Amino acid sequence: MSTAMHELRERLGEVSDLEQAAGTLQWDQQTMMPRAGAAARAEQLATLETVVHERATSSELGTLLDRAAEESAGEPPDSDAASLVRVARRDYDKARRVPGELKAEMARAGSLGQEAWERARAQSDFALFRPHLERGLELKRRYVECFSGEFDCAYDALLDDFEPGTRTAEVAAVFEELKAGLVPLIAAIAERVGTTGEEKASTSPLYGAFPAEAQRALVLQILPRLGFDPVGWRLDEAAHPFATGTPGDVRLTTRYEEDHLGMALYSALHECGHGLYEAGVAPELARTPLGSGVSLGLHESQSRLWENVVGRSRPFCTWALPLLQAAFPPQFAGVEVEELFRAANRVRPSLIRVEADEATYSLHVILRFELEQELIEGRLAVADLPEAWNARMRDYLGVEVPDDARGVLQDVHWSAGLFGYFPTYALGNVISLQIWERARAELPDLDARIERGELAPLREWLREHLHRYGRKFTPRETLVLAAGAPLDVRPYLAYLREKLGAVYGLAK
Ligand code: ZN
Repeated sequence: MSTAMHELRERLGEVSDLEQAAGTLQWDQQTMMPRAGAAARAEQLATLETVVHERATSSELGTLLDRAAEESAGEPPDSDAASLVRVARRDYDKARRVPGELKAEMARAGSLGQEAWERARAQSDFALFRPHLERGLELKRRYVECFSGEFDCAYDALLDDFEPGTRTAEVAAVFEELKAGLVPLIAAIAERVGTTGEEKASTSPLYGAFPAEAQRALVLQILPRLGFDPVGWRLDEAAHPFATGTPGDVRLTTRYEEDHLGMALYSALHECGHGLYEAGVAPELARTPLGSGVSLGLHESQSRLWENVVGRSRPFCTWALPLLQAAFPPQFAGVEVEELFRAANRVRPSLIRVEADEATYSLHVILRFELEQELIEGRLAVADLPEAWNARMRDYLGVEVPDDARGVLQDVHWSAGLFGYFPTYALGNVISLQIWERARAELPDLDARIERGELAPLREWLREHLHRYGRKFTPRETLVLAAGAPLDVRPYLAYLREKLGAVYGLAK
């Protein structure tokens, strides 16, 4: 290997190690750490962040990138070497635009903001959170200014951190199409439910009494079929489930609600989808900036694919039902596949995004996307946010927000300074279907295999067509490689109409 490239990989490997160490500390904080450790942990993470920022923006690294670029000039653009130089250069240039002082200030505000948000949510008192949100937005505007001339609008700069290369106008067009398809579908289902009077939660086999230990045992029976490897993976409990880690050390979390089996089961499938993506990146990309998922939208496409497209399908329900019956005999005795399938696909407009069904979920996201743009551009004052939130919930979902805890204060993202993140959830839904359709076309007996609990062929297909690329290509290029087409809402809408139309007996 050439000298500059070798040196570059060493240097970037150290940065990657430091980032992974921070990730493990964050995992520990949310799963294991005694609560009184929070202050010390914040210091540890801030120190690591400072060291990473120094190393990732040093002029030495810049020189090394120049030398490596010269050396690899003759390499094909899709080679690991050329991709590494290209992606590392982009990361470097972006990081250099933001003063360290602003980064530190944003980290501090995020930490204070989260603390204030927790209190505000517990008391359902937006006023407690308001100054922190105002401060967070002020810092974000300064952040956006660091990229002046680079983007068409302020929101582009925010979005780019999570979905690199995707623009606000493009997302807005996709979301308009999504909204135009979802609103009438939800209305038709509501009308149907209203006339038949069915769909009470108490009739769903997924609600009842499910001891957490037995739920965990069940989840640990199912996940190995997806690729959970007991010597390379862990499953723990967290209030807000997430996944993190590297190949050989994947950390999943889920949450057990003893009166609702769906929470643990589906959040475990979801996080396993994220874990499979990280675990499936080609080993030769490890310890480089290429060694992880390419964007949050693509990442979410994987979690939503396993959680919803597979996990709520009739074939999956057929396979899983005997396992549920063995784990919880009283709840599932006499339950038919059709009953489980309907319970897993119940549509009900609700207040909370993370509990939303597939039909209404994206509307929760679209609402946040619209409000974020208005906030960052100053068209909406923070003081008027709760009212704007509640009005849009009424418009899009027909629900009345009873208090801010179940309204504008429900998500952690804004308190942590994460603006521009939400759209990736709905983009993930859209992409999940594009990828699924391609996989299904290439694996013709996929349904029958899922019905037998054979999930490995799908996992391997995803690894081959998506996971292994890591960040070698742009998200847009990666999507075309995996799905064979650019972003397209139609497959997702067609899937929802077909599946939910069948569940609710809607006319075609
Ligand atoms: Zn996710």
